[in-house]
Amino acid sequence: MTKKTAPASPQLEDIKFEKDPRACRIVCTLGPSSSNSEMIESLIEAGMNVARLNFSHGTQETHERLIREIRAASEKTGRPVAIMQDLQGHKVRLGRANSATPIILEQGAEIILSHGEEISTERLGMDYVGAERFVEPGHRIFLDDAKIELEVISCHDEEILCKVRRGAPVYSRKGVIFPDSELEFPVLDENDLEDARFGVNMGLDMVAMSFVRSADEITKMRKHLAGWGKKDAFIVAKVEDGAGIHNLEEILKAANAVLIARGDLGVTLPREKVPGIQKSIISQANALGVPSITATQMLESMIDHPQPTRAEVNDVYSAVLDGSHAIMLSAETAMGDYPEESVAEMDRIAREAELELNRRNRGVHTPVTGKEGINDLLAASAVIFAEYMSADCILAFSLEGTTHRALSTASPTVPVYGVLDNHSNLRRLLLHRGLNLTTMPLENKLESLVPRALKKLRDDGIVGSADKVIIVSRQPEPEADESFLLRLSILS
Ligand code: PEP
Repeated sequence: MTKKTAPASPQLEDIKFEKDPRACRIVCTLGPSSSNSEMIESLIEAGMNVARLNFSHGTQETHERLIREIRAASEKTGRPVAIMQDLQGHKVRLGRANSATPIILEQGAEIILSHGEEISTERLGMDYVGAERFVEPGHRIFLDDAKIELEVISCHDEEILCKVRRGAPVYSRKGVIFPDSELEFPVLDENDLEDARFGVNMGLDMVAMSFVRSADEITKMRKHLAGWGKKDAFIVAKVEDGAGIHNLEEILKAANAVLIARGDLGVTLPREKVPGIQKSIISQANALGVPSITATQMLESMIDHPQPTRAEVNDVYSAVLDGSHAIMLSAETAMGDYPEESVAEMDRIAREAELELNRRNRGVHTPVTGKEGINDLLAASAVIFAEYMSADCILAFSLEGTTHRALSTASPTVPVYGVLDNHSNLRRLLLHRGLNLTTMPLENKLESLVPRALKKLRDDGIVGSADKVIIVSRQPEPEADESFLLRLSILS
């Protein structure tokens, strides 16, 4: 593969601190409905924090164009946006049909499933070779998040003859799940590695691995990424099946974030188990200081309606209340008729849920010993101190983002305004709840940095006279002894 040049990282001058910021982050999947620059700018203005590029679809050329559009839109709007590359992983998908029109599978019809690209009423191609070795008559096969159910009748050579038990329109590249069969996969897929390398060359901020089953897969991917020059890769583990849940703790320890892939979880496991699994993943992740993303069908009806159902509003509200760091839109923003409205709706619901979340969290903090060691204790102290002092906000300084991550883990009930000194480190924090970030050169001594940052808080309309600001920093002066700072400023 030829080495490509990464699109320039947006150099956002003076990112404004936001008054009353939303704490929960919003991830939007980009696709045909959201690939032009105007729409990307609108999504950013409406509240998108992270743009997700689904590498199960499109080509490196189409992704590269989109990456340039996102970086340019971020520069134009003056708002930071992270790009998350979502690798296909161990997911079998149907072939790429020539036409965008779906074929209709009728209940009771017979159809052959085999390796290939064909999508017709006689044959469905898929990208897995040799599935016939693992299936038996009577096994079920689900297509497109189980909208379609097939039953295996027999296998001949490399073909699986199936009967359609539940029919629906079939679209190209939809997922194929074998809930009764154990297909074999390599630890890391060649295609994923090639895409991940492309992501490194493009300077992408986060990489999501699909169907993660063990920490080993993450560790191996991390080694590859480091070998290509990405030493501090931000890896999101997508938990999508029983193996991922079984090994959750080790996966959480190895990953930088976890994505609760409710679409596949509801197909690989009984779907009535998904709500409990979601709550359990969020609380285990929070206990370890790992941000979680609740994903899939959150505002599904907004794909073709301007308003969500009341049940969807409830789902988003509950995901925020359960402690998700981020919530995600999929087809709503990728293929829907109301991408911008979906983000605006999510923003409103999350803000409402956060009022209740903060009410519940106030006064009940116990320090989390997450991944940041002593910084987690400092951050928890800052959050408790802020509550005791009825502070208006927390102001934090960090080069790599350690203090900011720890503050996010500590479930702050007041906004945290964080300063870093480079945009790439800032974008790596855009899945962490409760942080509102900007950049400033941090080479100066803290005595001069604090007044400058406080002035910015005033200039951006966040604080005024008599307001209380808690200031948190670690090792503020690189040449000094290791030290930690927790200070209260009452503004004159
Ligand atoms: C999911 O299954 O919920 C999910 C997010 O995975 P994908 O959209 O990549 O299939």
